[in-house]
Amino acid sequence: MRTFPSLPCESSGATTRPDAYAGGVPEGDSVWRAARRLDRGLAGRVLARSDFRVPQHATADLSGRTVLGTVTHGKHLFTRVEDGLTLHTHLRMDGSWTVLGAGRRLPRRLVPHIRVELLTNDDRRGLALQMPVVELVPTADEPRLTAHLGPDPLRDDWDAAEAMRRLAARPDRPLAAALLDQRTLAGLGNLWVNELLFVRGHSPWTPAGDVDTAPLVAMARRMLRQSITVRGNGQVTTGDARPGEEHWVYGRSGQPCRRCRTPVRHVPEVPGDAERRATWWCPHCQSGPAPAPGRVPGTAESP
Ligand SMILES: [Zn+2]
Repeated sequence: MRTFPSLPCESSGATTRPDAYAGGVPEGDSVWRAARRLDRGLAGRVLARSDFRVPQHATADLSGRTVLGTVTHGKHLFTRVEDGLTLHTHLRMDGSWTVLGAGRRLPRRLVPHIRVELLTNDDRRGLALQMPVVELVPTADEPRLTAHLGPDPLRDDWDAAEAMRRLAARPDRPLAAALLDQRTLAGLGNLWVNELLFVRGHSPWTPAGDVDTAPLVAMARRMLRQSITVRGNGQVTTGDARPGEEHWVYGRSGQPCRRCRTPVRHVPEVPGDAERRATWWCPHCQSGPAPAPGRVPGTAESP
């Protein structure tokens, strides 16, 4: 995991890391938090200036427009401004949104990472850093950009039955890959999928058609919603926020399972996952198929 220097965020001046980095890569809950930061800093305010440092929008100018608010679907952010325009961003692995209060400036070393700067007429700044996806679109086009996504547990239009239907549509698919696919359920990243499968007791390779998906989907929603209700980094699944104690299996290769003391296993990528993310699991607590130790098809077991 890459690290990133501390930033002074929000008008409080509190120094925090951008949420995007707090739990590894951005997941639906950290994206939701970024949207709330943007709302607290920018919503209802008029833009004095906008600066797009991306080639396709280099001449775009949002000055004079009021920021209406930011909504999310999965890991996509849609920042709406007056007159029917939306700034669509996606953090992917490295992007982040930082909001600075009046009079605060980004540390000079981070300035080269700015992709978008939105400055309000009361001197607040929204800064998109290292943002891989930046596009200005008509607000009316938002549904087109999210049409492929599954239901999002953090949205008011969350539809558990639809998430279950999408899981059931490909019953042979391993659960880890199915849950990571944003077309099944939007917002779960690798941390939540690993922890969710531990909590539900399913191995990552369990075919989606072999499990009762109702409690699985319900737990996914509960974990994400719990995460956004706590202050600071909500990506704690064990209830213990001390460093190194936050997670059941995620990132704990070789360490004893917190329930049964069996060493947590790890493979560097999930077969069937196009993004080749790692997975961790307890071979005792999580029933279902799993590769034999040292023999993962197409991968090498790492210590
Ligand atoms: Zn265990």
